[in-house]
Amino acid sequence: MSALAPIPFIDLRPGEDEAAVRAAIHRVLGRGWFVLGPEVEAFEHEFAAASGAAFAIGVGNGTDAIALALRALAIGPGDEVIVPAMTAGYTALAVIAAGATPVIVDVEPDTLTMNANACAAAVTTRTRAIVPVHLYGQAADMDAIRSVAARHSLAIVEDCCQAHLATENGVAIGTRSDAAAFSFYPTKNLGGLGDGGAVITDNDAIASRIRQLRNGGQRERGHHVEAGVNSRLDDLQAAVLRARLPLLAERTIMRRSLAARYRQLLPASLRTIRERDPGHVYHLFPVLTPERASLQAHLSAHGIETMVHYPAALTTQPAFAAFASHECPVAVAAAGQLLSLPLSPRLTDEDVVRVAESVSAFVKGHRPA
Ligand SMILES: *Cc1c(COP(=O)(O)O)cnc(C)c1O
Repeated sequence: MSALAPIPFIDLRPGEDEAAVRAAIHRVLGRGWFVLGPEVEAFEHEFAAASGAAFAIGVGNGTDAIALALRALAIGPGDEVIVPAMTAGYTALAVIAAGATPVIVDVEPDTLTMNANACAAAVTTRTRAIVPVHLYGQAADMDAIRSVAARHSLAIVEDCCQAHLATENGVAIGTRSDAAAFSFYPTKNLGGLGDGGAVITDNDAIASRIRQLRNGGQRERGHHVEAGVNSRLDDLQAAVLRARLPLLAERTIMRRSLAARYRQLLPASLRTIRERDPGHVYHLFPVLTPERASLQAHLSAHGIETMVHYPAALTTQPAFAAFASHECPVAVAAAGQLLSLPLSPRLTDEDVVRVAESVSAFVKGHRPA
């Protein structure tokens, strides 16, 4: 065991932002308005501005953000929605929650984001939308995906749950599609002290429909014009997110520079996710190795905590078996090899050096004879 301090995968206790977070909570307690109040409205304006969109609508979580965006686009029962095989299961669960059928397609080997050719090949007469995922904080190949969507008149709802402030070819992600979904789960690049989410869109009608859907489908209080859901952002989360939003750009720069250090220091033989776009916001930094279990045990013995994102392709999970109509060999193989190294703005350069040296020692010890 190492005598050095452990390096946790993530530390969610407030740090430099603690005073601002406490002040935000205090403000909400003093006001006594806890759900869909003034903090939510202010956060919606601030998050829309930060994201480059006309509207942001706060909802209960990222899953609901995707589901309600699809419902607002009139996508539901009988409709097919294409999702990538390597993502959080919640991407597909959101499609199911909207009443539609997820169609799972394979990902690209170097970025693990949706393969646009696989997406094109999966289009049927029932396909209505594509939900690309900006996995680990890097934009999917949106030029290629947009051209598939344009060819078949499909909607696009971007899953930006790991990609706050990311750009693709210099343009803010989420701003060129019908709608985009964000999560503010505590571990995300912008996270609250509980669940939270938002949809961004430039379309006034979609924004109004999501506002109605999140609040039970009421147009005015007590008058439900459609069967919506209860998916409201609360003022405590919104106030905390408002306290953290101004720090996000700087934290994103720190994530990028820590990731660049990993790329400098890790052994060249170790497979990493290719940085196709410098707008990558490094929510996670996975490496891939056939010896994942022993690398994870080695790092753990040296006080370094790692996690796996994700251990199973969607097509191999019982909940999605009915939607596994396309082979996804790239996602299935990656799921057996992925290991996420610690990467958060709280890490120091020394931490990253220590992790990289520990990985290098493991790789040297396992060099094939
Ligand atoms: C976190 C996440 C979600 C779900 O967000 P919740 O807020 O947990 O509902 C969906 N997709 C991806 C890619 C995620 O990382």
